[in-house]
Amino acid sequence: MQVGKNKVVTIDYTLKAEDGTLLDKSEAGEPLAYIHGIGNLIPGVEKALEGKGSGENVKIMVSPEEGYGVRNEALVQTMPKSQFDFVDEVSVGMQFQAQDPSGQPVILTVTGVEGEEVTLDGNHPLAGLKLDFDITVADIRDATSEELDHGHVHGPGGHHH
Ligand code: ZN
Repeated sequence: MQVGKNKVVTIDYTLKAEDGTLLDKSEAGEPLAYIHGIGNLIPGVEKALEGKGSGENVKIMVSPEEGYGVRNEALVQTMPKSQFDFVDEVSVGMQFQAQDPSGQPVILTVTGVEGEEVTLDGNHPLAGLKLDFDITVADIRDATSEELDHGHVHGPGGHHH
């Protein structure tokens, strides 16, 4: 079987930044499972895995355009610290969920706290980065109709509910 639309693909992966910094990896014995072709993973990764077979290894450098997007500086904003009285102490690295003007959920990351001013960044933390992936396909199977309905994988490496 080969990786293609509506297959459940299980992968072991390591993700590094262009400079070699480790950003993310699947833990040994805990591979990631996703449904191919429905936008579960970033486009660059899904393209690279298309047609691959079980056991195949793929090394790719994904551009921001095929990854988490280019950075949009308009998504960086400052707010007064007084707006954050719902937390004990606002600090760099904290994340808050908000809604954009169209009602879509966005994650805001605190990137600076200076005096009474808090800087928030609505870009994905990996936006603007070239991403160096090393991926091994561990398993491929057909998605069940229930999984396709839900848009995610059930069982090992996926949702349990
Ligand atoms: Zn489900």
